[in-house]
Amino acid sequence: MASPPFPRLKLTAPLSSFPSIGPRRQARLERRGLSTVLDLLYCFPYRYEDRRIRLVVSELTEGAEQGFVATVRSIRKKIVPKIKAPIIEATVYDRSGEIPVVWFGQEYLLKHLPEGSQAFFFGKVEYSSYSRGLVLRSPVVEPIDPEQGLRRSYHIGRIVPVYREEAGLSTGVFRRIVGDVLRALWGEAFDPLPESVCREAHLMGWFPAIVEMHFPRETERPMEELLLPGYPPRDRIVFEEFFLLEYLMMLRRQGVHHSGRMWVPAEEGHDPVAAFERQAPFPLTGAQQRACREIARDFAQPHPMNRFLLGDVGSGKTLVAAFAMLQALRAGCQTAFLAPTEILAQQHCRTLAALLKEEPPVLLSQSVKGLDRRRLLSGIAEGRHRVIVGTHAIIEEGVVFEKLGLVVIDEQHKFGVAQRKALWSKGPNPDILVMTATPIPRSLALSYYGDLEISLLDELPPGRQPVETRIVPKADESFWKKKVAPVLARSEQVFVVLPLVEESEKVDAKNAQDVHGYLSSIFPHVRVGLLTGRMAGEEKESVMEAFRTGEISILVATTVIEVGVDIPRASVMVVENAERFGLAQLHQLRGRIGRGGLPGTFYLVPGEGMGDDGRRRLRILEEYSDGFHVAEEDLRMRGPGEFMGVRQSGLPMFVVADLVRDAEVLFRARQLAASYVEGAAGRMEAAWEQSGLEEFLRLRYREVDVWLSIR
Ligand code: ADP
Ligand code: MG
Repeated sequence: MASPPFPRLKLTAPLSSFPSIGPRRQARLERRGLSTVLDLLYCFPYRYEDRRIRLVVSELTEGAEQGFVATVRSIRKKIVPKIKAPIIEATVYDRSGEIPVVWFGQEYLLKHLPEGSQAFFFGKVEYSSYSRGLVLRSPVVEPIDPEQGLRRSYHIGRIVPVYREEAGLSTGVFRRIVGDVLRALWGEAFDPLPESVCREAHLMGWFPAIVEMHFPRETERPMEELLLPGYPPRDRIVFEEFFLLEYLMMLRRQGVHHSGRMWVPAEEGHDPVAAFERQAPFPLTGAQQRACREIARDFAQPHPMNRFLLGDVGSGKTLVAAFAMLQALRAGCQTAFLAPTEILAQQHCRTLAALLKEEPPVLLSQSVKGLDRRRLLSGIAEGRHRVIVGTHAIIEEGVVFEKLGLVVIDEQHKFGVAQRKALWSKGPNPDILVMTATPIPRSLALSYYGDLEISLLDELPPGRQPVETRIVPKADESFWKKKVAPVLARSEQVFVVLPLVEESEKVDAKNAQDVHGYLSSIFPHVRVGLLTGRMAGEEKESVMEAFRTGEISILVATTVIEVGVDIPRASVMVVENAERFGLAQLHQLRGRIGRGGLPGTFYLVPGEGMGDDGRRRLRILEEYSDGFHVAEEDLRMRGPGEFMGVRQSGLPMFVVADLVRDAEVLFRARQLAASYVEGAAGRMEAAWEQSGLEEFLRLRYREVDVWLSIR
């Protein structure tokens, strides 16, 4: 059976083509980012009101929101001396009884609701000790046109949607617009999801689901449940959102699979992992071996690698990256290693220099300037430099490679789409190894990196010492003397971390200086260092160097040290205003200590006025040392946007789907998307045209093209 045709024209119709939408409303809708029918359909209500008429006046009870139809017996304006706005008082009745109604300041009602007129009232009934009886306060009123009688309108006699009031569009106006648009599409049989998928996932049809998301049918469910898993229209839309994203991931993956690789591994037939291990400074962990094998297998494929290395802080991702780089180097390619900050780039450069002895890495960052820079760039272009470690500077236009075979991206989430695209276009189809700094929950990994193969580093190298986490009420003098002084006496080192408040770098710097001064006075016999984001590259580097060599004992820093820095003798970290950090970020920080065989302590000092939420979040760190668990909790509490800057990743955001609540649905949608794409292999294009899936994707997510074009 042929699927219903794709109703392109109807879905892309501008909202201004509806009679109820004049230029003013159109402009307001535009301001909310809504210009086509499809945009509007996916702008769902955030709650519902049960405005079905089920009661007569005598049945009204205190407390709940209730709706009924009644006639106005009397209505008048009352001026109360101390209250500025006039009070509108009315009495309304039906056959069963009457009830007083009160509004504040809505004078237009005198005209709107003349005595003898009939209207629908919806609101909360309260007990008034003043009149000693029930009273309806500030209800919503919908007058009933005497000529038309009580007709089912958009606003009365049904469960009605309540929309966010933005850009000067009231929920009533918005409701009416949505109602009109739905009416124009009435009976639409199109479904963006393939029929087989709908059947297998037991989904309700597209249009009925959209309609019922806006105007739910009769149901005995409490209104709140219409927003939760288990309400079929919602489940359908959630599945659809996940399916579309996963389908997109599959397409990207296919795109990668269709491009040829640029290089083949040298020394075929050898076991490259074993060879690497022989020259590595320590035996690989089981997880590192597994990841390296997976990478070696990728290199033997006809298409480029696209792999995501997911591991907890300190799980040894750098070593795995070095393995991958070595393979590319031996095959005669250049490799680039992209780090999010200059300090990290410097550190990686040193680490890689030790691991890749045959090819000394060069550092390309903003701080390399003038002649040095020109020399470096020509060395890269001519292929004299083969390992390039750097920051964003690598992405810049003037940087040309001779033969870029592999790109390693550390801290993937710090880089936006445009930057990734720029980097990837620097070599024809380079292999890509993406690494995260912190573990991310599986649901997020699958949704936002679903096009990548995933290697999991779920094992820490031996010799890591446990780090204890403690929340301390405040970091006063006795804290420093009791907890920190003994640590310094053992010539161990201490990090003191302050949060960055982006709006005000000056305040941050001042704050950091104050703390620095304070600690210098408490500990006059050791050197206290200061590291802030405002300092120049060289200055930062020399402070870091002094801390690394142990010259500095206490380092006061804003979060520039957040990621990756390796200081073996640092055993204590004190984080001030800890609640300002994300949990994942704190976990990251915690990973900076306990690295050199010394057990560590991680002190969290809450800022003044931290609420219960903040405390609950910090407790999670006290309780769990496993990064994946911390990440799950962080996602649960903050949502994906905050969690890892997904917004800047340029990926479509979900309107209804919730990565935590609906994680199971995501896994299912992913499975079905994979088997659909497999099943359609070879017939892919025909399948698209038929189902309208691809076209729908493009209409729904305008970024899709950009997104499909990058790997
Ligand atoms: P991350 O995954 O956080 O980037 P790193 O790659 O920085 O972790 O490694 C953390 C520390 O563990 C480094 O000091 C590194 O030298 C060490 N390390 C890595 N792999 C091993 C191993 N197999 N055995 C012992 N130490 C290791
Ligand atoms: Mg790292």
